[in-house]
Amino acid sequence: MHQLTLRKIVDGLNQKEFSSQEIVSHYLDRIKKFDPQLNTFITLTPDIALKKAAEADALRAKGSNALLLGVPVAQKDIFCTDGIKTTCGSKMLDNFIAPYDATVVKNMNQAGVISLGKTNMDEFAMGSSNETSFYGPVKNPWNIQTVPGGSSGGSAAAVAAKLVPGATGTDTGGSIRQPAALCGITGLKPTYGLVSRYGMIAFASSLDQAGPMAQTAEDCGLLLQSMAGFDPLDSTSIEKPLPNFNAELTHPLKGKTFGLPKEFFQAGLDPHVAKIIDEAIGVFKNLGVNFKEISLPNLSHSVPVYYVVAPAECSSNLSRYDGVRFGHRSTKATNLEELYKLTRAEGFGSEVKRRIMIGTYALSSGYYDAYYLKAQKLREKIAHDFALAFKEVDLILSPTAPTTAFKLGAKSTDPLGMYLQDIYTIAVNLAGLAAISLPAGFVENMPVGVQLIGNHFSEPQLLNAGHQFQLHSDHHQKTPIGFE
Ligand code: GLN
Repeated sequence: MHQLTLRKIVDGLNQKEFSSQEIVSHYLDRIKKFDPQLNTFITLTPDIALKKAAEADALRAKGSNALLLGVPVAQKDIFCTDGIKTTCGSKMLDNFIAPYDATVVKNMNQAGVISLGKTNMDEFAMGSSNETSFYGPVKNPWNIQTVPGGSSGGSAAAVAAKLVPGATGTDTGGSIRQPAALCGITGLKPTYGLVSRYGMIAFASSLDQAGPMAQTAEDCGLLLQSMAGFDPLDSTSIEKPLPNFNAELTHPLKGKTFGLPKEFFQAGLDPHVAKIIDEAIGVFKNLGVNFKEISLPNLSHSVPVYYVVAPAECSSNLSRYDGVRFGHRSTKATNLEELYKLTRAEGFGSEVKRRIMIGTYALSSGYYDAYYLKAQKLREKIAHDFALAFKEVDLILSPTAPTTAFKLGAKSTDPLGMYLQDIYTIAVNLAGLAAISLPAGFVENMPVGVQLIGNHFSEPQLLNAGHQFQLHSDHHQKTPIGFE
């Protein structure tokens, strides 16, 4: 049953091949059996899930046809879930029971999904390896001595190990696509503003975007359909009717042009990964896609720009954790100032503290113009490069990550090395674009992802290209040994 895609689960439920209670129990059993090795969940909600599965079966019997009625999923622990612990991977929120549902959770619940629990993640979504989580690292099911990527590593590893057929992630600089690539699954980062950020714990508000993670592009389309939509509670939500994201899946790719940015195929890319990307290009060529070299001249600034903008926004967003209103509160304080200081010293991990310090520095008077303002100007230039490129090409193809999954601990004392994991993904967030990572092959049994980047609101085209690629490749169908 767990080999089924989400699409097939929906069909199976519709055709009464199995009930929601059966499929939910099946996945809960798998989680019980396999999760102790992987640490993909922070909180499991089996009782609620089984109760909701029974309700979903009853609703289906009455003729309800909600899009994902009775389908099991997992929610990244960055989304507030009413009455359920919501930690964002941090000790700061270890005692936080959210009093409401994030819009993503609300929308997905309305579509009928059944959440099995909340997935592990890097603390406040800061990281590329899932090692900054207060709840311990997640292991990559393809080799449990390696990282799953991050920050949505719990969701990626859970989907890869088939502990759940689909999950949510968030992507501020690559946190859906990079773990999807490292775990051999499909992950979509939607256009900024397409999916509501309300109730999604903020990291860097001008970059954060929620999106789907699943085995296939088609499944990502189904999940996106259930998550997205205008939300008056998010001031950056875009008021625009939703398309049917999977409407173009079967369109032929013949005659399309994909750009290959020369800056993405230079030093730093593992030659074995480069070979897999070449093979993926070959698959698209066979489908009639033309390739064209393009240049995105300001791309080299994207990592430095991101590491000014994201810490600046995070230092502001995380100022709310002061021990007064909710979350961790130090018991050692004897006055108010100590309460703030000790609470934050005890509650945040070292990567979060590093970002808050960088961000506070970059925003401080005297440095604001030199760092933050300059970064914002370069951000515009990066976005402009993409805008020009999309006049010439339909989509842009690149690797998702420069290497396959690395060993746990390998980059823990090397923040810059860790930051470079996102070298191919970060510019997409700076420009607010949409992008998808597709399983493209393996290097020594470890998955490699290929990234397709599209213009704003290109989700149907990205899903179309992803689906066509997956009709002509089988990398997305592989299961890690020991998790069959
Ligand atoms: N790895 C990047 C960071 O640590 C991106 C994280 C993300 O997308 N949430 O900031």
